[in-house]
Amino acid sequence: MKQNNGQIYVAVTGGIGSGKTTILHMLANEGCFTLSADEEGRRIYDDPAVRKEAEKYFPDCFAAGVLDRKKLAQTVFSDPEKLRILNGITHPAIMHKLFAKARASGEKLVFFEVPLLFEGGYETLFDRVIVVMREEGERLRAVGARDGLSGEEAAARIKNQADYAKIAKSGHTILYNEGDLAALKEKVSGVLHELLAQIG
Ligand code: ATP
Repeated sequence: MKQNNGQIYVAVTGGIGSGKTTILHMLANEGCFTLSADEEGRRIYDDPAVRKEAEKYFPDCFAAGVLDRKKLAQTVFSDPEKLRILNGITHPAIMHKLFAKARASGEKLVFFEVPLLFEGGYETLFDRVIVVMREEGERLRAVGARDGLSGEEAAARIKNQADYAKIAKSGHTILYNEGDLAALKEKVSGVLHELLAQIG
């Protein structure tokens, strides 16, 4: 296994609504140390360098230096090129902050929720990658209900995403989220214990 500073870094990735956050919560409940790129992403515009760069490309989404998050989301989710530009600004900064927190924690095993792992080419930074797969209809329903999106808006977000079944590489663990929450919890527990057995 690749060693990050003597620690083992595990990425959990998958499409929108596949169950990543749910899985990270389950791992945290089992006592694991977890970090989330989504959570870091919500704070990323507090970083002046990131805010300045985003404002340069999306001036309409800022009023007197204050970010209009809803407008920015609408702008980028309706235009893949704009989404690519914004991700190019925020994702490296998010990964940098996550890795700093992981190092500072000193934890032997660290789980990271990283939604766009493959899109950013970040998979090589991790010792282990878990790809969460969930049926598209379930994901659409879950995302629509959770984020108050219309079926069309939820579908547009999902459409921007890569096909994870195709990009998962050998050595990556595919976790099928296809039952209820109790079934998912059992699977997560199984993956964790397998990992703990491997690292000794
Ligand atoms: P995003 O990429 O949008 O952050 P995510 O991959 O983190 O999504 P979650 O937020 O964990 O996905 O799950 C989406 C929704 O589906 C949540 O409301 C969650 O409770 C629900 N969910 C996930 N897995 C299951 C399951 N096996 N049974 C029932 N509900 C589930």
